[in-house]
Amino acid sequence: MREDILLGGPVAFLAEELRLAPPERLLAYQAWWETEGFPLSVAIDRLGTPHLRQFSPHGERVDEVGYPPSYAYLLHAGYSAGIISEVAQRHDLRLSYMLGFITSYYDPGLYCPYTVTLSTWVPLYKYYWGERREEFLSLLGRSEAPFGQGATWMTEIGGGSDLGTHVHTQARRAEGELWHLSGDKYFASNVGADLAVVAARPEGAPPGVKGVALFVVPRLRLRGGLNYYVRRLKDKIGTRSVPTGEVELRHAEAYLIGEARQGIYYVLEVLNFSRVSNAVGVVAHGLHALAQAYRFAQGRRLFGKFLVEQPLFRHELAYHYERLRWAGALAWLSEQWLETVWLEKPPYSERYALFRLLTHLAKFWTAKVALAAAHWCVEVWGGLGILAEFPVERFVRELMVTDIWEGTRHRHLLDGWEVLRRFGLLGQITSLWDLAAVDGSLVPELEAALARPEEEALPYLEPLLTRLAQAIGQLTAAQSNYTVLT
Ligand SMILES: Cc1cc2nc3c(=O)[nH]c(=O)nc-3n(C[C@H](O)[C@H](O)[C@H](O)COP(=O)(O)OP(=O)(O)OC[C@H]3O[C@@H](n4cnc5c(N)ncnc54)[C@H](O)[C@@H]3O)c2cc1C
Repeated sequence: MREDILLGGPVAFLAEELRLAPPERLLAYQAWWETEGFPLSVAIDRLGTPHLRQFSPHGERVDEVGYPPSYAYLLHAGYSAGIISEVAQRHDLRLSYMLGFITSYYDPGLYCPYTVTLSTWVPLYKYYWGERREEFLSLLGRSEAPFGQGATWMTEIGGGSDLGTHVHTQARRAEGELWHLSGDKYFASNVGADLAVVAARPEGAPPGVKGVALFVVPRLRLRGGLNYYVRRLKDKIGTRSVPTGEVELRHAEAYLIGEARQGIYYVLEVLNFSRVSNAVGVVAHGLHALAQAYRFAQGRRLFGKFLVEQPLFRHELAYHYERLRWAGALAWLSEQWLETVWLEKPPYSERYALFRLLTHLAKFWTAKVALAAAHWCVEVWGGLGILAEFPVERFVRELMVTDIWEGTRHRHLLDGWEVLRRFGLLGQITSLWDLAAVDGSLVPELEAALARPEEEALPYLEPLLTRLAQAIGQLTAAQSNYTVLT
């Protein structure tokens, strides 16, 4: 284990693992976080849920989120660094995700506004050819303030995992390009965003996922006034650097993205962008937790030695660090596959199916590994670890949220298994990664489970997909080039 890398912050880890000479702008962004960003982020977390001001003194509905002024300063740093504009102008996804990695090292909640803005820009760029295309794209792709923000609102109260059953928001055609949306979104992060992509059901659409279409909803109506309303803000245990609210759509003006009957594909594309962000981001935050555990152990003297010198501490640190390296490799692998498939449209290639599988594996496994690292960090801090005045308990709070949003473990296990089975991907996987080199019995066990009826295979999903995720991560971490089919 390289302690200089562990203590060198997110850029040192990226440089080591991705084998790159870190660009100056990444170093500058990290330096800004160390000196200015992180103290602000800690303060915003401690303030708790911001208030919502729903009305102006004159009785107009305004729905303003009451963050302190320093929040805008914190938020603008990532936009100014190019986290969206570099994708919009140069299609540089890698730089965007690297900036996200740095952001999330310090504050995974703050990575959310950037993630959902990118996940809004992408479907607009790929599929929306209406009259307001240039206006919307340039709003989100700005490299200087004022920055436009996006949001991705799919989930309703019935359940986020099963959108086919629980998206009830209705879409009705209005005049020209306009539609009107009516319904309620129960989890709506980055409320206040200028544009949100929203899942809704056009009148007469079939039931289930096939009837879900994707729309873009501006914050303001064409003639002024709010186009969506924030009923309340969620009082969350973590990710407090992004406001999450309940949103009411009441004949909200909306524009259809692409073709209505392809909507569920666009929704999944949106989610996949965000899942890659989540995977990359949680590894960074888990790494920060390990660095904090290490720093504490350097100064804690127990049984005549500093904790950092105790063999059991060192053993456990090495264990978590190694798993985070593998998880990081899997996350960056999924990012690099995304770079090669993100412009594909349905029907997708087989390469896209493999990207989907990697993303399911990366989302659930990185979240698990990072959360385990955060728990361990709190444990290392002992009783101090559970005191809010030392912000290490925050690692657990943040990583509990990132474990759930963008799809829970069950969803990724079930969907990952479905992709693996339906597209018969095991052969392609074994031709790309020598799984037997790190886990001798994995391939025969996967083959045996895949041959079982689906119900009977269920108990094997988590152990086998965890081993598959780990094996691909481990092999990738050991390579000097990531295996990406172009
Ligand atoms: C802070 C926060 C912000 C969020 N922001 C947004 C946002 O901006 N936009 C948005 O659209 N959503 C957002 N979400 C919602 C998030 O995506 C959902 O919470 C998530 O997808 C899970 O949905 P759910 O909470 O409704 O749980 P459910 O879908 O009701 O699932 C409940 C449990 O059942 C499990 N489960 C589901 N299916 C199966 C099965 N077949 N077998 C076994 N178990 C199963 C799940 O894994 C889970 O453990 C946010 C959530 C949080 C916590």
